[in-house]
Amino acid sequence: MHEMAVAEGILDIALDYAAKNQAEKIGKIGLRLGEMAGVETESLEFCFESLVKGTIAEGAELALHRMPLVGRCRKCGHETHIEHYNFICPACGKGALDIISGRELQVEYLEVD
Ligand SMILES: [Zn+2]
Repeated sequence: MHEMAVAEGILDIALDYAAKNQAEKIGKIGLRLGEMAGVETESLEFCFESLVKGTIAEGAELALHRMPLVGRCRKCGHETHIEHYNFICPACGKGALDIISGRELQVEYLEVD
């Protein structure tokens, strides 16, 4: 399952950070998650909760910061929220949109004690 691998990656980062900061408990993990990152959030939360049992991250809150899918037109530079996977610029109707946001999948911040 893709989400399980993602959850493991997040937990690795959090545990590594906690170890470096001599933290005993991980309270909150802020995650930047793009609309098009390909992650099912409910599934990710489920995987994360099952993974953290017995670790210092048990009970930690996973705070998801969802990033919309935004594209910029190659022809006119117009920036827009991409909907329905329509990658043609709505402003000029000609240019293709390059994705500038929406694929993020990264730990944004960690709160540890
Ligand atoms: Zn355009």
